[in-house]
Amino acid sequence: MFRDNRRWLRAVDNVSLNIKRGETLGLVGESGSGKTTLGRAVLRLVEPTGGEVIYRTGKPNPSAKNSSGIDDTKEIDLRTVPMPEMRNFWRQMQMIFQDPYASLNPRMTVRDIIAEPLIVNGLAKGSDLNDKVMEIANICGLNTAWLSRYPHAFSGGQRQRIAIARALVMQPEFIVCDEPISALDVSIQAQILNLLKELQQSLKLTYLFIAHDLAAVAYAADRVAVMYVGQLMEVAPTESLYYQPRHPYTEALMSAIPNPDPDCEMAPVLLEGERPDPASPPPGCRFSTRCPYAVDRCKQSVPELQPVAQDHYVACHRVNELTLKGALELAG
Ligand code: SF4
Repeated sequence: MFRDNRRWLRAVDNVSLNIKRGETLGLVGESGSGKTTLGRAVLRLVEPTGGEVIYRTGKPNPSAKNSSGIDDTKEIDLRTVPMPEMRNFWRQMQMIFQDPYASLNPRMTVRDIIAEPLIVNGLAKGSDLNDKVMEIANICGLNTAWLSRYPHAFSGGQRQRIAIARALVMQPEFIVCDEPISALDVSIQAQILNLLKELQQSLKLTYLFIAHDLAAVAYAADRVAVMYVGQLMEVAPTESLYYQPRHPYTEALMSAIPNPDPDCEMAPVLLEGERPDPASPPPGCRFSTRCPYAVDRCKQSVPELQPVAQDHYVACHRVNELTLKGALELAG
């Protein structure tokens, strides 16, 4: 919960998500839906006022006798970890921020920016430190001749590569990518998306990929979670979500994806009304004030997130009555 103009608002409410090792979970929704707060709460960069953040450490052991094959792993609720000990987890969990212009210290050289987390955590020095910086710069497509320069000498895409190198130098397992391409030129966005994908494969990373660009999420994510006013509306494998959405808000989001075909006549689902104030959300379904399919029951009780297919969850009272359009049908 946050205090805003003397009111308390619950930025993320009753959200339960799991992220599988090695996958990219996309998190989408309008500005103010709670996506970034959720990403920061996972890393405890903001302190959640309730709930659990379970982090599973260790590597799965396929030869374990346990039928789950994961008995070498241990689960820890990060909310119970004393702050000084969180440093151990922040080595494994990093964040890439939206704005590479604001997230890099302009007074530090690229070499110092990338080396700083290793130095602060006492993980390398001397030639070992230099080798690690060179190695990660190479992996991230940074010319090693750039290491003695300052961030202002670089374009947005190059700066984002520096920010990615700084996150990766700690050899993390899990990265929260908070709108990592939204501040970049369109021509550069694909390069950064591809870099993130390549790095995920080669370094076996797990991503929480927060974005409002649905086309980018479709490309990057294995599964997608849709948030609206602090709650989850739908969680599904990417293909199902885009082509067979089961929640009216997801259908509206899909219809807003620009189609590159100039002859295509889009049939957007227009939402009327304003997004509710998170400090005083409507009773019942939070989407009921804008949903074209709302009925009385929607305004009275909160729909639970329920399974509708394998790995597919929806919070809508009318999920079994509605036939919604996916991205392909909406594109005409
Ligand atoms: Fe729309 Fe009702 Fe479903 Fe909410 S519960 S999304 S208002 S149909």
